[in-house]
Amino acid sequence: MMNTPLTITSMIERAEKYFSKKKVISRTQGGIHELTYKDIGKRVRALSSALEELGVEQGDRVGTLAWNHHRHLEAYFAIPSMGAVLHTINIRLPAEHLIHIINHAEDKVLLVDPDLLPLIEKIADQIPAVKAFIVMGEDFYVPESSLDPLYAYEHLVAEGDKTYEYTAQIDENDPAGMCYTSATTGKPKGVVYSHRGIALHSMSLGLADTAALSESDVSMPVVPMFHANAWGVPFSATWFGATQVLPGPYAAPKILAELIETYKVTTSAGVPTIWLGLLKEIETNNYDLSSIRAILCGGSAAPEGLIRAFELKHGIPFIHAYGMTETTPLVTLARLKSYQSDLPEDDRLSIRKKQGLVVPGLDIKAINDSGEIKHDGEDMGELLIRGPWIADEYYRDPDKSVETFRDGWLHTGDVVTIDEEGNVEIVDRTKDLIKSGGEWISSVELENALMGHEGIFEAAVVSMPDPKWQERPVACVVLHEGVELSKEEILAYLEAKFVKWWVPDDVIFMEEIPKTSVGKFLKRTLRDQVREMV
Ligand code: AMP
Repeated sequence: MMNTPLTITSMIERAEKYFSKKKVISRTQGGIHELTYKDIGKRVRALSSALEELGVEQGDRVGTLAWNHHRHLEAYFAIPSMGAVLHTINIRLPAEHLIHIINHAEDKVLLVDPDLLPLIEKIADQIPAVKAFIVMGEDFYVPESSLDPLYAYEHLVAEGDKTYEYTAQIDENDPAGMCYTSATTGKPKGVVYSHRGIALHSMSLGLADTAALSESDVSMPVVPMFHANAWGVPFSATWFGATQVLPGPYAAPKILAELIETYKVTTSAGVPTIWLGLLKEIETNNYDLSSIRAILCGGSAAPEGLIRAFELKHGIPFIHAYGMTETTPLVTLARLKSYQSDLPEDDRLSIRKKQGLVVPGLDIKAINDSGEIKHDGEDMGELLIRGPWIADEYYRDPDKSVETFRDGWLHTGDVVTIDEEGNVEIVDRTKDLIKSGGEWISSVELENALMGHEGIFEAAVVSMPDPKWQERPVACVVLHEGVELSKEEILAYLEAKFVKWWVPDDVIFMEEIPKTSVGKFLKRTLRDQVREMV
């Protein structure tokens, strides 16, 4: 067989060539934009040529700090197609993490949404590798800003070469993208995606037994384009020529419902918090959402009540999936096998609420101290994954790499059972992180800060179930003898150190934190205690 490379360039070229009339609908702060793949194709070429003019070379990292919209989509293709690396930056990270990842990736150019400019202005003197900034606004002119040099995206695209040829010699194993994910301790870890990994993952999203993404879809990724490439959905949707609806900044449930109704969205993807919000909206106001054929829900466990409400009350098919930044991200997806479709409703739901079956192309197993777990839905072990779209190291981070990538497997830190049918169910997490609304909070960082307070003897932070955010942090604190500190004082102390959404919802004062024989916090025991208390 021929060994032709699988590249991102071929995805955008296919859309441009065969789906020139199909549309991308994009919501930005300037309003709704409708562009065809013909328009997008030219603009992508123009952006590549502009980046080249700015000195971006093959292998250079180009960062984006942006919402889900057409300009971000253009960057998704322009940057890898010229051989550079698309580094999508999580806009919700605290400033010190932003500084770290921009420096660690050595981003040469940053593309930034207008409302996010202040995030970069504040740290601009601490990111020396960045040679140019581009504001992704509507205007041809740059806004008032301390960033220098600052270019207007639309001006660059208008002046760029719309017939630019992607001449870079790209090997399919070359890096195409990168994304940092939170670590239990210390700074975020970088995951590099190859052209080949992204291409194979994109194909997997098109399989009938996975997300079945196709040309006939109107695809609306709500999961941020800075979070594991919006689960790869924009790559597949473009490659397959699907219509795309990109919901833009601050897409509240009402906006999502209106976009679905107006543009007859057929499939969407996001974390449970998004769907809980949409559910509330559609239960309060009337919308016609009959166009939807599948909602993909992942990133955190989908509550059974959520699946029930969407499917049984609103007739909207709801699919639970699992993955990680390190896995591009799709790994498992919960669908019934053909012989299970006649099972009673509750049995069907109990299968569909699991994280599901591994997708074709990947291998999984789960291990505990006794070896590989039994597939009986009871035995528990850590999930291990391998396959062509699974990372095999963290970018320039040998210490964190050896912890996670061992013996040819990615060790996920997720504790699972696997049933007789092969369905994976996540039952716990070994990583000391809290996932709130789809984003990570490090309990260890909060604990270190708390224990840095002179009045606090020891502190542990655990997650509590939350109806809106799935998990929220709660701090358990033991004060030094004779010290008086109120909950409000402790929270104010943390507010000065962390972004708002990291600050625990509650502080519980204790006599002692439960510990193991070697003095480690017994987090699971503590979590159970706290859950009973509140
Ligand atoms: P991230 O890299 O931020 O996407 O986070 C990946 C992690 O999120 C996984 O290792 C799991 O701990 C968690 N996760 C992702 N999807 C699910 C799901 N469907 N159910 C439960 N946890 C999930």
